[in-house]
Amino acid sequence: PAEVVPQAPEDPLFGLARAFKADPSPQKVDLGIGAYRDENAKPWVLPVVKKADEIIRNDPEANHEYLPIAGLASLTSKAAELVVGASAPAITEGRVASIQTISGTGACHLGGLFLSRFYNPYGDASKKPTVYLSNPTWANHNQIFSNVGLPIAQYPYFDQKTKGLDIDGMKKALSDAPERSIILLHACAHNPTGVDPTLAQWREIAEIMAAKGHFPFFDTAYQGFASGDLDRDASAIRLFVELGFELVVAQSFAKNFGLYGQRAGCFHFISAPSPDAASITTRVASQLTLLQRSEISNPPIYGAKVASIVLNDPALFAEWKENLRTMSGRIIDMRKALRAKLEELGTPGPWNHITDQIGMFSFTGLNEKQVAKLREEFHIYMTKNGRISMAGLNKKNVDYVARAVDKVVRE
Ligand code: PMP
Repeated sequence: PAEVVPQAPEDPLFGLARAFKADPSPQKVDLGIGAYRDENAKPWVLPVVKKADEIIRNDPEANHEYLPIAGLASLTSKAAELVVGASAPAITEGRVASIQTISGTGACHLGGLFLSRFYNPYGDASKKPTVYLSNPTWANHNQIFSNVGLPIAQYPYFDQKTKGLDIDGMKKALSDAPERSIILLHACAHNPTGVDPTLAQWREIAEIMAAKGHFPFFDTAYQGFASGDLDRDASAIRLFVELGFELVVAQSFAKNFGLYGQRAGCFHFISAPSPDAASITTRVASQLTLLQRSEISNPPIYGAKVASIVLNDPALFAEWKENLRTMSGRIIDMRKALRAKLEELGTPGPWNHITDQIGMFSFTGLNEKQVAKLREEFHIYMTKNGRISMAGLNKKNVDYVARAVDKVVRE
């Protein structure tokens, strides 16, 4: 096949990271990659993760055996509680089927694969339901769902004028979509815009989705990062569960545990209240296990152990929440600092969206030309769509970044 394999383009995000690394300028600033950085622009190993690491290293029984196909049960059960709440009826009624995945990407993939096999809403296997993605969304969503043979479409999300949510556009698109479509929703801290619906808006969205019989597919990669509060960041999913939707959740522990490269995550299928719940959960879990076997056999053990130790120990769990507040708090401080500096400089704005938006990212509104200038003249790296990772800012570089933005906006 060698002759017919064309060169594929480099992944834009990882290409950006490579270019940043190769830049010798001492002033360079990385606002590209979606990973938390501390005040010194360094990766941060959460103190609670270090403690869990100690526990694993001091455990004489610890080994490198395979996990079961469905992963570490002490992780998946707690992970489900994290999503819907420990005392939620979905848990007590046994309506959640959970499986450990290759982080959030693997959860989206396994979920997409599962739905492409078993979600056949039109009674005709050749007519697949469409997955609706927000415009814009995490770029990988497009490839992940296309790769499992599901058609994709977009719903409006970001309002260029207000740099907030285009709720009317979104609602109209959901109303116009064919019944029983799959709707991909970011549970909180939307990537790349940093714009989330309010709880009242989530209710409106849910109402339309219920009327149209749409299937909610939640992607939760930033729980605890948006507000610093795990429960609050799960409120959209919990609302849909309380309303009785059958839905799925792709959950990543990359950001909130800082376990990026360990690939820890889960996929959850939550069925609607029914006397049949136990049987549904067992059947769904069996099919997920079968799919998993042919894909990865069994998921990786280390990150799963770390997360499980923290989630199962009340003292460590409390400490994790503290660590989450450290990360989300520093990001909020940087939002305030960047906005204040731009306003102080009188940079043509407005810049309120910098502090209105939440989570790891901000959609600045800078255009492609300005982004290129920032990179070429100021060694400041961000994605072409003007998204900046707030975690790349710190007290030492925020003024420099604001001044550079000021220059390119005025040109
Ligand atoms: N979904 C969204 C919206 C994301 O931003 C990310 C990480 N960039 C993921 C899923 C999955 O990431 P990972 O596979 O590293 O958990």
